[in-house]
Amino acid sequence: RGTVIGLDIGGTKTRGVRFEDGQPVADEIVGSSNVQNVTRDEAAAHLAELFARIGQGPVAHVYAGAGGIDTEEDAAALAALISPHVPGATVTVVHDSRLLLAAGGADSGVAVIAGTGSAAWGRNGRGEEARAGGWGYLLGDEGSGYWLGREAVRHSLRRMNQGQEPDELTRALLVSCAIDDPNKLIALFHSPSTGRRYWAQQARLVVEAADAGHRVSQELVDQAGKDLADMAAQVLRQLRLEGPVILGSGLGMNVVRLQDSFRSHLAAAGVTDVRVLDREPVFGVLQLVGEGR
Ligand code: BGC
Repeated sequence: RGTVIGLDIGGTKTRGVRFEDGQPVADEIVGSSNVQNVTRDEAAAHLAELFARIGQGPVAHVYAGAGGIDTEEDAAALAALISPHVPGATVTVVHDSRLLLAAGGADSGVAVIAGTGSAAWGRNGRGEEARAGGWGYLLGDEGSGYWLGREAVRHSLRRMNQGQEPDELTRALLVSCAIDDPNKLIALFHSPSTGRRYWAQQARLVVEAADAGHRVSQELVDQAGKDLADMAAQVLRQLRLEGPVILGSGLGMNVVRLQDSFRSHLAAAGVTDVRVLDREPVFGVLQLVGEGR
């Protein structure tokens, strides 16, 4: 097979890998090119940067998994931004959760993304598919980085209203945001200078506070694990599957406390085949291209 470029387009970054005869020969990361999160011009600029860096020469197939791809029109709009960079190549655009299931080496099962956003999607051996969440940050994205970051802000504002002093989580948030008073969080949250990625990046403060023993932060991370487990359980039920469930993306792959909560809530629902993805979703591309999907 010829040259394949895999793209994983998340809410925070775009990762591109160039495969020649099945081997990764270039691997680049640029900013997000997901039009749910950045403007069309920013997306186009990031894609141009990626293709300039990822190596020259003919490409047979570009296979992209992206957040915010919910309709044929969404996929076509993103494909139109990619195609000019790879004349003659086949361009396929799918929802990002599909890469994750393939990267997990599973033909059937449920993929759960816990990154900037969140989503669960699955497929069974009868060709049926189902999905939970993945509605974007304004409508849901429970258990995502954005959700955790926003909850940290809400927690700080609740304490402020109750006349309480900032606790560890609020203090960390104020330092990270370079402000001196929780009441400035409200304007900052709505300011165009911040946004989905900015708040998703604050999720690490909640994870660090939880690890240091801060009770509310622990509850928030546990709640994220539960919400993600509920999404996975819904998809399993719809597909009449028992597993596997594959958890991936930034929070999913790195936050042990979230993984533990996710596993224990699924175990309570009788689901025990739960795996944490151990490689980047973009490596699922070769399998999908090979299967002609
Ligand atoms: C997007 C989904 C995506 C999920 C995970 C959400 O914000 O709306 O389409 O699958 O993030 O990346």
